[in-house]
Amino acid sequence: MRLWGKAIQPKVPWFRLEFAEKDPSAPVQVKWKRRLPGTAGGWGRLSYRVRDGELRVGGEMQISTTPLPRTTSTIDQVRLLVAHEFGHVLGLGHCLSCDSAMSYAWHTRERVLVTPTDVLTCVKLIEQPVPYAEP
Ligand SMILES: [Zn+2]
Repeated sequence: MRLWGKAIQPKVPWFRLEFAEKDPSAPVQVKWKRRLPGTAGGWGRLSYRVRDGELRVGGEMQISTTPLPRTTSTIDQVRLLVAHEFGHVLGLGHCLSCDSAMSYAWHTRERVLVTPTDVLTCVKLIEQPVPYAEP
């Protein structure tokens, strides 16, 4: 997660990540679970809501603490998974064939990668105007 922050911040100066433990009001919640349903080692998603006329963006991710063969057997694989799932929290989707933490091949990599493609995609998402209508 810090890799994402360090990679994005030079391009988007106001972007910063702060980490706090057990803060239910934090806009992004990270939960470690003994086991997740299905075969995934984790998941992440972006969420948003309009409150007092202001768009509030956050997200959630859950990571399984139970090692899964080939995907989260080592700490490096868990780091890759967290980098991937946090990319989802930032709003990124999967990338089938690019050099990206969001590639489907993330679990076969030997090191954590937040690539220039990831940063560019994230910056473009941040720069997008967000259309919404208040209910
Ligand atoms: Zn994914």
